[in-house]
Amino acid sequence: MDKIDIKSKNLEELEEFLVSIEEKAFRGKQVFQWIHQKQIRGFDEMTNISKDLRQKLETDTRLFGVKEVEKWVSAIDGTTKYLFELQDGHIIESVLMKYKHGNSVCISSQVGCRMGCRFCASTLDGLTRNLLPSEMLDQIYAIERSTGERVSNVVIMGTGEPFDNFDNVMKFIELITHKEGKNISQRGITVSTCGLVPRIKEFAELETAVNLAISLHAPNDDMRKELMPIANRYSITQIMEACKFYIKKTNRRVTFEYSLVANVNDKKEHAQMLSDLLKGVLCHVNLIPVNPIEERDYQQSTLKSIQNFKNLLEKNRINVTIRREMGRDIQAACGQLRKKYKASHS
Ligand code: SAH
Repeated sequence: MDKIDIKSKNLEELEEFLVSIEEKAFRGKQVFQWIHQKQIRGFDEMTNISKDLRQKLETDTRLFGVKEVEKWVSAIDGTTKYLFELQDGHIIESVLMKYKHGNSVCISSQVGCRMGCRFCASTLDGLTRNLLPSEMLDQIYAIERSTGERVSNVVIMGTGEPFDNFDNVMKFIELITHKEGKNISQRGITVSTCGLVPRIKEFAELETAVNLAISLHAPNDDMRKELMPIANRYSITQIMEACKFYIKKTNRRVTFEYSLVANVNDKKEHAQMLSDLLKGVLCHVNLIPVNPIEERDYQQSTLKSIQNFKNLLEKNRINVTIRREMGRDIQAACGQLRKKYKASHS
């Protein structure tokens, strides 16, 4: 029988489990704290728990999440990219970014991805499997252990489509924000989606303070379809309607990500169309110079066209920033490093 994934259990589930093995429910909180606050690596570290219970946990459950296999530190800005191995041998990647306001980690939510965005390296081999809540948590725990520094922000923007693994991602958010665990604030978390409309609505219904980012990348459906197959399923109109629902429910602004690809979506008229689309919406646009990947011939927009694009949005009173490129020298963009590692180890 497979061992129980104890790190993915919330406090109530843990208490129920302990009662089921004839332990007192109050032990649940202690065990939860050991796992999520003190981030133990083995049950023998739980000093206020009886040897007998530790033995039972050892036999019935597993703590293992991820194992660091490689890391690259950017010489430019200290951004660190980690490759982690999962229990079944699959490799995932996470990125640590150091900002003045604290450390932020970009985690993966799936092994691979099935969304097929044309410019993205994570999707080239399709989806292998969903990540468990424990495997998402452990990316952060392992990075804290490796650096000895606290992580205060989490962006679910690594490999995978978080809303294609909705339940596990929501459980991860519940666990990482738990006051008896790592206790990261909901406001410190951002989930990014390519636009799965029904899930955006479901997420809005939860009325959390977790930030929502939408990968838009185009101001109209025709252009979006060229870049993102998901645009064949949901129109921009549907996405905007879902975003307005999120704003109504949470009173929080939405971030629209827009990767600028030379001569595809970076012209003046595109900036104007985007402004018209977002007029009056509580939002912020994050312009990302596309990171060219080997397998496709998309080019990064010139600095001048990026600046012009930004200026036009500003003129139209749209909140906009250009995402600071980090870790360029370590191939920190989505899926690039994992791809390279897989190629050299196969
Ligand atoms: N699936 C989710 C989250 C992962 S991708 C989503 O689509 O939002 C995180 C962000 O990086 C998305 O906006 C994605 O479109 C963008 N991205 C992926 N590959 C990129 C590349 N090569 N250059 C620039 N942005 C990229």
